[in-house]
This record gives sequence, C-alpha cells and structure tokens, in this order.
Amino acid sequence: MAPITAAGLPVPQRVAVVGAGMVGLSTAWFLQEHGVEVTVLDREGVAAGSSWGNAGWLTPGIATPLPEPAVLKYGLRAVLSPTSPVYVPPSADPKFLKFVTGFTRNSTMKAWKKAMGSLVPVNDLSLESFDLLKAGGVQADTREAKSFLASYRTEAERVTLLEEIEHIHAAGQDIEFDALTGDQARAIEPSLSDEIGAAILLKGQRFIDPGTYVHALADSVKARGGKIMDASTVADIRDTGAGVVVTTAEGSVEEFDAAVLATGAWLGKLARQFGVKNVVQAGRGYSFSVAIDHVPNGPVYFPAQRVACTPIGDRLRVAGMMEFRKPEAALDQRRIQAIAEAARPLLRGADLDNRQDEWVGSRPCTVDGLPLIGATKSPRVFAAGGHGMWGITLGPVTGRLLAETMVTGKQVEQLKPFDPMR
Ligand SMILES: Cc1cc2nc3c(=O)[nH]c(=O)nc-3n(C[C@H](O)[C@H](O)[C@H](O)COP(=O)(O)OP(=O)(O)OC[C@H]3O[C@@H](n4cnc5c(N)ncnc54)[C@H](O)[C@@H]3O)c2cc1C
Repeated sequence: MAPITAAGLPVPQRVAVVGAGMVGLSTAWFLQEHGVEVTVLDREGVAAGSSWGNAGWLTPGIATPLPEPAVLKYGLRAVLSPTSPVYVPPSADPKFLKFVTGFTRNSTMKAWKKAMGSLVPVNDLSLESFDLLKAGGVQADTREAKSFLASYRTEAERVTLLEEIEHIHAAGQDIEFDALTGDQARAIEPSLSDEIGAAILLKGQRFIDPGTYVHALADSVKARGGKIMDASTVADIRDTGAGVVVTTAEGSVEEFDAAVLATGAWLGKLARQFGVKNVVQAGRGYSFSVAIDHVPNGPVYFPAQRVACTPIGDRLRVAGMMEFRKPEAALDQRRIQAIAEAARPLLRGADLDNRQDEWVGSRPCTVDGLPLIGATKSPRVFAAGGHGMWGITLGPVTGRLLAETMVTGKQVEQLKPFDPMR
C-alpha cells in the first residue's frame, strides 16, 4: 500500500497533467523526480498555447504583479485604440467586466507591494529550478542575458522603471542595474538606433527560445517514462473519492490518482467545478521574427512602447501587446503592424517588413497578478496556472513546489499566497 500524505490520502502514483505548456510539463517533470508516473494530455500538442511565441525572458528581477497604479492609468487612457499596446474591444462580456473590476481593485500601491512580497520567494528559486532541469537531463540551455537593455528615447521616460526598481528592491527582490546614456547603450548593443537616448542595463537575468525549450522538456518527460497525449481535449474530470476519472472529447476515459490543471488561459473552464472562482483572463500578446544586422546578445526592451525583443537563433523575436479578448479569437494583423511600427524607429538594421512566425498567444492573467497553484476543493485535483506575464520564468519553480505539495500533502510555504481557493 502507498504511504499516506499529510492530507490523509495515499501518495499519488499516477497523475494526469492537463496542458503541455511550460507549467504542465514542468509539473510533470518534477513529479517524476518523486517517482510519480505521469500522463500529459494536450488538446493540440506540446507548446500549443502561450508557451511557444513568447519573449522567453527568465527575468525574476523584474517579475512583478501586473496590476499596479501605472498600468491602470495607462490602460484606461489607451484601451480603445487598436494600435495602442493595451487593447480592450468595446464589446466586453460580463466575465471580462468581473476581471476588470477585480483588477482595478488590485491596482493600488498597497496591493502591489503585498503581491510583490509573495512573488519574491518564488522568483528567488526560479533560475535554480531551470538549473535542476538541466542537471536532470533536459537537453536545452538557458542563456545569460549579457546585454539586457531597457531602452528609451529620453531620460524622463526612464524614470518609471527606475522607480519600479526601487519598489522591487524595497520588496526584497534582487536586481542589479546600470543607468546608461544612449551612446553607452549603443556601444553594448549596436542594434539600438540613434533615437535611443537613455537605457537601463539589467544584470543577472537569462533567456531561452521558449518553443525549443518546452519541446526539450517534453522529450525529457518522455525519456523518463512519461506519456504525452496530443489531440486529447480534456472535457471532464471527476473525483470518485478514490481517484479521478479523466474523460477526453476524443473518447478516452482513464482513471488516475490525481490530476493537475495546467491549461493556461483556459484554466477556468475545468477549474471552476472544483471551486476555483478566480477568473483567468486571456491577455493576448503577439510576436514575429525578423532578420537583423546585429543579433543582440540578450533581450532588448522598449518599455514605453511595451515592446520586448529576444534573440532566437539568428533572428530577433519582437513581441508585445496586451489584448483582452477570447483566447480563440483570430490573429489581428493590425496588432502585428502596430508592434512593427512601434519598434521601427528604435531598432537599427531590422527588416521589419519581412516578418516570419507571426503569432498570437494568451497570457493567463488573474485579478491580483498572482498565479493559482495548489489543491482545489478536491484534494485530488490541483491547479497550476494564471502566471500572466511570467509563466516561462516561473514554470519550473511552480512544477517543483507543486510536485512537493502533491506528494507530501502539505502546502509548501512559498505557495501559500497562490492558493487557488483564495
Ligand atoms: C507575447 C508574450 C510574451 C511573453 N513573454 C514572456 C517572457 O518573456 N517571460 C515569461 O516568463 N513569460 C512570458 N509570457 C507569458 C508566458 O508565455 C505564459 O505565462 C506561459 O506560457 C503560460 O504557460 P502555461 O503552461 O500556463 O500555458 P500554455 O502554454 O498556454 O499551455 C496551456 C496548454 O493547455 C492546453 N489546453 C487548454 N485546454 C485544454 C483542455 N481542455 N484539454 C487539454 N489541453 C488543453 C493548450 O492547448 C495549451 O497547450 C509571454 C506571453 C506572451 C503572450
């Protein structure tokens, strides 16, 4: 007989993980570390959701909660223009209005500080969790961001991030930086145009090609005996009192000891019946890749335009936008164009008219800017999602701490603020 956890249940031996993104696969991998047999089900396949075309920054130093006074002020001013970096279509549904109400309530300095304080302990474990994956055989590297430059036209524009860094430090989060002139920034990163007049060099951060990385993680899960089921849309999960029955729309029915819901922006659909009331709203972002004369040595960030660039192979991925629409909505070409136009004057030698890999994906956003990680009202069904802007950085640490919670039956201290039942 299996040993009993602190929650009074047998230690799970067989677990279904729903969602093959960064969060689901990390959870599957760390469950395997505890000897658990895993089956990962995805309605499409590995990295089909937001874990593919994102910016791939591993930046615990700036992984902050999304709701904050500045975003709110900015958002309300800009929401109705299709070219602005934050876009809300005029015909918003009631679920979205619930999200906006909650988000607005959390956009105070007091709420931001509390949420930031909750993120610091997991931010601190995030990079070493990538190192554990590497040491455990995941065949993908993280790269040191040698020239991670937040770049601005003017020093005045830079003040917002400098102030934010002060708040980040006050919350106990390490982040070292140098304030640079435009010329100093260009000396480090020649792909910045002459329009850049001020920058902040952020130190100690990393980046990955997220699609490649998540596929390598899936390969490792498989190599260690895990099963990955593509084209498997989980339609229903039932707690029988002795296990969970997972039913897919494609017709498979299988029993497991426990299930993890790691369905990104779709988390609410399956989690709601298990008492998770927090809305997970898709904050859609767009990206594409371009050739550039000098491929940067690390991410380049234009905070005033909300454009994030990352070297991916020999090309530059350019990403941005926060569009509050349904995750299934079609890619809107106007947003791609808006990102290209915002980046055009700021990058040198980038071929922004010959774009490849145009992509839209959904950040799973919560009203308080914190993820939902842990047991639901069923002690056999766990949520792992809602990481918003930071699911790549925080995916591995989430999997690591959730796997520990599941096999011990005790909520790990760092996960307490992320209780899905809050
Ligand atoms: C433009 C952009 C840039 C970003 N940049 C960064 C960054 O630089 N750093 C960072 O840390 N984060 C970044 N993010 C955020 C990050 O991409 C997400 O937080 C992260 O990918 C979420 O991972 P996930 O595994 O929770 O969800 P996903 O990757 O979306 O995975 C969910 C999976 O669940 C599957 N699924 C859904 N419903 C079902 C079902 N019923 N049955 C079976 N399968 C189902 C989907 O097919 C999908 O594969 C960015 C996001 C965007 C959009």
